[in-house]
Amino acid sequence: MIAGSFRISGPITFECDVLIIGSGPGGAVTACELVTHGLDVLLLEEGPISNSSRVITSAQGLQKLWRNNGLTVALGRTPVSYAEGRCVGGGSEINSAIIQRTPSILLDQWTKDYDIKKFGGPELAPHYDKAYKLINARFPLMPSNPLSEVMIQGAAALDWQISPLERSDDADGKRSMSATLLKKALSQGLRLVSECRVDQIIFKGKKAYSAKAVALDAQGRRQPVVIFFKDVFIAAGAVHTPSLLLRSGVKKNIGRTLRLHPTLKALAYFPQLIEAQKHILAPYAVTEFMPDIRLGCSVFRPGFFGMALAEDWQYRSHLQAEMDHCAIYYAMIRAQGIGRIYSIPGLRDPLVTFRLTDQDWALLRRGLAALSKLLFAAGATEIFPSIRGHSGWHKDDMMAADPSLENLPKKANPFTIHIFSSCPMGENQERCATNSFGKIHGLENAYIADASLIPEAPGVNPQATIMAIADRNIQHFLKLRNW
Ligand SMILES: Cc1cc2nc3c(=O)[nH]c(=O)nc-3n(C[C@H](O)[C@H](O)[C@H](O)COP(=O)(O)OP(=O)(O)OC[C@H]3O[C@@H](n4cnc5c(N)ncnc54)[C@H](O)[C@@H]3O)c2cc1C
Repeated sequence: MIAGSFRISGPITFECDVLIIGSGPGGAVTACELVTHGLDVLLLEEGPISNSSRVITSAQGLQKLWRNNGLTVALGRTPVSYAEGRCVGGGSEINSAIIQRTPSILLDQWTKDYDIKKFGGPELAPHYDKAYKLINARFPLMPSNPLSEVMIQGAAALDWQISPLERSDDADGKRSMSATLLKKALSQGLRLVSECRVDQIIFKGKKAYSAKAVALDAQGRRQPVVIFFKDVFIAAGAVHTPSLLLRSGVKKNIGRTLRLHPTLKALAYFPQLIEAQKHILAPYAVTEFMPDIRLGCSVFRPGFFGMALAEDWQYRSHLQAEMDHCAIYYAMIRAQGIGRIYSIPGLRDPLVTFRLTDQDWALLRRGLAALSKLLFAAGATEIFPSIRGHSGWHKDDMMAADPSLENLPKKANPFTIHIFSSCPMGENQERCATNSFGKIHGLENAYIADASLIPEAPGVNPQATIMAIADRNIQHFLKLRNW
């Protein structure tokens, strides 16, 4: 139990100034600011408390802290699997803590396209600065490792641009939400109930009136919870915020525009020793093809290596004793495709769909081609892309003449860990779910405060943008209420 959080022991009714649903980066920033200003805040989180400051990828960690053991699928012509955190701190507890700013050019474009007031590069800059400080984001102090060397050498050989990535950690480990903002907020009076899932928000006219939830008690029994509040902030993530709102009858522009960063991985074999599991990740990205395509290194653990082999055992099993010579890299794109979240009566989880466009597939092909070029240039001798039934590339020129790439939509296994944009913000009422500061259009006291608000795919890791937008919006809320 983190100090200040508590378990309920039976059916309970709460009253508070502000209810926050979900404790990821959006919910944590919002909670911390509100308690600092003296408000009585109740934060409800569906998942359990995480007690680790590491990147969580063990089998136990997957079961405990990742939703659905780390594998959920957005349906479509080609299914896209995606991962989400489900714990106190949300995705920040299980992520790689890579912290980046959305390029100003995109922020300025969204300002126009979505008619967002007081938005754009200069407006968001102080909120990014604040977020960076709160979680100690900076260029890594760690020495270069063989995973990074692969990228640095490959990029140098091809004369491609490569950039170090900022991370949020310190001597004690990752600066996740539970290690930073939530800890601070709890010491200032935040009430947090974990393993408490909000099922519905009840509305009376234009006002959110109460919420119904179910929480686990110490014996693991389900106990009903009712909450009365003055304002509610929904920060349940880009899939579950729209899912909860749809279940509660709020529909306008909710859950219709899910965006994500489709990614294809490749397992590579190198004659030289890599020992990827000792180093876990490489804080670098090849930025030569940004903003459309980014090449990077995937987190490596024995379990992930096993999953990469199992993706096509026939062609990859000969590598099973070669773990120390293997690593997994990825090509990630900024897609045009759009997905949707449906709430199906009787089903606990939402149905999620996503459709990649032809242009997205063209980008993924280009991304894979660039990735294989990079890895061969760094000395790889075998590369197995995430394409079903693929016998691998053994030489640089095999990729260019590979007919299976034309069949990519039928054979590829895209995945993502970056999801957003399901409830975009702005004054444009044709496309936006909330106003320029996260208040849901048509409602007086219900707000969204998470990745759902980001209007479109940022092309970079999203946590810092979620935190910056949440901070900007909560400052606006406090100002309007004279707090
Ligand atoms: C494996 C992985 C690696 C990643 N790496 C990076 C990275 O290095 N850098 C980066 O910037 N981003 C990374 N991301 C993405 C980043 O973690 C997410 O974008 C971010 O956490 C989203 O924040 P959020 O506040 O929108 O929601 P989330 O972090 O998803 O938090 C939402 C919380 O709400 C809870 N919830 C949902 N429904 C309910 C309900 N009905 N009642 C109560 N609680 C509910 C969930 O359990 C969850 O804890 C990664 C993500 C993953 C999965």
